[in-house]
Amino acid sequence: VRPIPGTERTLVPTDPPDARRAAAGPVLAIGAHPDDIELGCGATLALFAAAGVQAHGVVVSGGAVGGDHAARLTEAGDGARVLGLRSVMVLGHHDTRLFDEESAILADVEAAIHRTRPSIVITHSEHDHHQDHVAVHRAVLRAARRIPTVLCFESPSATGAFAPTVYTDVTRGIEQKLTAIGMHRSQLAKPYMTADRIRGLASFRGSQARVGLAESFESVRTLLPGLRA
Ligand SMILES: [Zn+2]
Repeated sequence: VRPIPGTERTLVPTDPPDARRAAAGPVLAIGAHPDDIELGCGATLALFAAAGVQAHGVVVSGGAVGGDHAARLTEAGDGARVLGLRSVMVLGHHDTRLFDEESAILADVEAAIHRTRPSIVITHSEHDHHQDHVAVHRAVLRAARRIPTVLCFESPSATGAFAPTVYTDVTRGIEQKLTAIGMHRSQLAKPYMTADRIRGLASFRGSQARVGLAESFESVRTLLPGLRA
């Protein structure tokens, strides 16, 4: 368990008025593989970071099955830097075998929660065809049992049962998302990595949310921010 060199950095709020308005505490996003966070909630994380909210990422597997391990580590760090994440931790669990490692993943995610103190945790949905994604969803729900807000993002492998009820307006964050996805150079041949597909989905979810472009989430539970003393 180690941070990628160069991704631990000081966050400089880019918009002080927004930073003062930001009611949410740190945000922690957890994906099974490098690029899952960018695809599922990259624009949302970029907007949180730009608003002065600490955003962190955890990647459960370095993704050795989907490509060269060292290259994918570099890509994970590059994607996180583009989004403005304060840190990204790449764990050493085994690509395609995460279902057998759920207890160990649970312990590592608990440690990440202890380190980053999030009030919002975002991870995979249970409605996903990829068994690694479902394993991470299950481990994170247990690890985040005391976190007030837990949301599940939409992966390209989401099933038809994915039914979002929470949306973020990412009209301003979509370019950063596309740039971050572009950092995953070893994965760019995959059809779901194209700007067309990503904009198309964001437009569809935006129409549901009555905004321009949106990322969408299933809610495990949502605490409305801004009312705490
Ligand atoms: Zn994945």
